[in-house]
Amino acid sequence: MYKVEVEKGNLSFSAAHFISFGGRCERLHGHNYAVSVILEGNLTEDRYVFDFVELKKTIRRICDRLDHHFLLPMKSQHLDIKEADEEWEIRFENRRYVFPAEDVLVLPVDSITAERLAEYVCGQLIELVKEQEGLSLTSITVGVEEAPGQTAFYQHSF
Ligand code: ZN
Repeated sequence: MYKVEVEKGNLSFSAAHFISFGGRCERLHGHNYAVSVILEGNLTEDRYVFDFVELKKTIRRICDRLDHHFLLPMKSQHLDIKEADEEWEIRFENRRYVFPAEDVLVLPVDSITAERLAEYVCGQLIELVKEQEGLSLTSITVGVEEAPGQTAFYQHSF
């Protein structure tokens, strides 16, 4: 079994969010998120688990989509979310936010925690690499660092 890991460099994105839980809701704020990825598996005919350059390019594409957006948790059980003309309206109790649609990235998750972001990035990565032939991956682990020393991981095993 082999393992490759990529991190640091430009594998990062900046985004705004707030988390609501148990009747509370954080204020709107942002993070500089850093993404790391570990792939485990057997070697391809070219004698690697995955080409480092290609892997970083692929992760970079996912980060670029997230970068400089407000991340909207479409499946939130706490937020009242409405889509109007070119806008998203989000309510939590007596608070009301209105965002231009172009500033918003809608994610199919229930909360924008680092754990859910790691799961989302992992799903996107699987979509982008599954077409590649000759790979022999046994697992993908994605880490999303929300702040220095605070990283959540999600692992998918094949
Ligand atoms: Zn936060």
